[in-house]
Amino acid sequence: MRLPTSPYAAGGVHQVLDPASAAPVTDVTLADLAETDAAIERAHRAYPAWRAIAPGERARLLRSFAAAVDAHIDELAQLEVLNSGHTIGNARWEAGNVRDVLTYYAAAPERHFGRQIPVPGGIDVTFHEPLGVVGIIVPWNFPMPIAGWGFAPALAAGNTVVLKPAELTPLTALRIAELALEAGIPEGVFTVVPGKGAVVGERFVTSPLVRKVCFTGSTEVGKGIMRGCADQVKRVTLELGGKSANIVFADADLEQAAATAPGGAFDNAGQDCCARSRILVERSAYHRFLELLEPAVTSFRVADPRNEDAQMGPLISAKQRDSVAAGIDGADIAFSGRRGPDGGGFWMAPTVVIPRSLTDPVWTKELFGPVVAVLPFDDEADAIAKANDTEYGLSGSIFTRDLGRALRVARAVESGNLSVNSHSSVRYWTPFGGFKQSGLGRELGPDAPDSFSETKNVFISTDA
Ligand code: NAD
Repeated sequence: MRLPTSPYAAGGVHQVLDPASAAPVTDVTLADLAETDAAIERAHRAYPAWRAIAPGERARLLRSFAAAVDAHIDELAQLEVLNSGHTIGNARWEAGNVRDVLTYYAAAPERHFGRQIPVPGGIDVTFHEPLGVVGIIVPWNFPMPIAGWGFAPALAAGNTVVLKPAELTPLTALRIAELALEAGIPEGVFTVVPGKGAVVGERFVTSPLVRKVCFTGSTEVGKGIMRGCADQVKRVTLELGGKSANIVFADADLEQAAATAPGGAFDNAGQDCCARSRILVERSAYHRFLELLEPAVTSFRVADPRNEDAQMGPLISAKQRDSVAAGIDGADIAFSGRRGPDGGGFWMAPTVVIPRSLTDPVWTKELFGPVVAVLPFDDEADAIAKANDTEYGLSGSIFTRDLGRALRVARAVESGNLSVNSHSSVRYWTPFGGFKQSGLGRELGPDAPDSFSETKNVFISTDA
């Protein structure tokens, strides 16, 4: 497989490791401040022509970009397995998601309607004006989808994009940028700039030429980005951390709830902001649920991510694995699953812990690894109170056969994305984002192009 390379050099080098074996894969050269400024400048120069392209032509170019991604799904998936340790099944889905999101927003340029508003003395119309250069900062946990959720609607709305992948996972973004050029997206319209957060990412925040920052990552870094953007009243979207609850009522199909709970918590080795890392079970079903959960966890297939049937691969890095392991050091472990293959690599067993109290860090802190904490609740009000007892509010699940209760609880949980009798979180047709400290703004869904444009109101007098 040919590995993509970075056209930058002055910001040093990052050695990419295969998380499954810890073996070096390749060195990616990074941009420094001057190279970042030059990339932003090129995106700024490319903007007038891109925004002026006829809507139908911009749509055609985005469809052609989607087709180029589609023709390289397997290559992109293999790259992600190598760079991020994602299971091959997940990695194929992720590359397909980039294609689908591009296709979905390719329909937007021809449909991004303004309004005609009745007013006295004339005609009033609104326009969606693009912003200019949009800076997208991506974390390492889902390098492809999170990039696409930003760049596809941003480009569709007429903006140009500079995108910084996470230091650890630059390969698929670099390849997607090559595919964009091959598909006919003009030079400078979509640029991937690998580099350090404190250099490239921070420059997106401070450069006056970047008019919006879309950041996905930790709550701590996100708060700094928001403070930085305030200086220029720069538009900002934040997708941050989570500690989401999976609420299981006693009337639920307990077998289904227990069988799906590991997928909800350990998919992508738990390195998922939407992971249902807290399970709340109605007290009368608590012991039965744990009995059912144990075989589901011990049979969860932790294996070489290249294996077609692997359900979980390694963590992204030794640092991440050590941080998750430190988070459960001394905790009450109920049971755990397989650790994965012997040899090198950043492996960790999926683990179920029983918190000692509601303030136990395993219950309150986002560990971002394959750990799930389980506690009982007494009634509906107690379930809602416990689910909401967190600074986060990204996603969550409710298992019950009672539709009225499902809706009551879904409305009461302070979270941006709830699913009933499933663990679905992110569907590109629907809005995605967090309450409280899980984020600001929404991505995806039919309205995403609006958040990459300004509404302009124009009044035309008919009295003149
Ligand atoms: P991180 O915040 O360290 O890094 C995220 C990105 O920000 C990286 O590209 C990094 O280089 C960049 N960055 C770091 N410091 C920066 C700075 N000072 N200025 C500008 N950019 C900077 O997070 P991470 O370790 O890559 O990802 C894990 C975290 O992301 C978890 O907390 C997780 O919950 C969160 N996350 C949230 C979502 C969501 O949609 N809400 C999705 C994925 C990950």
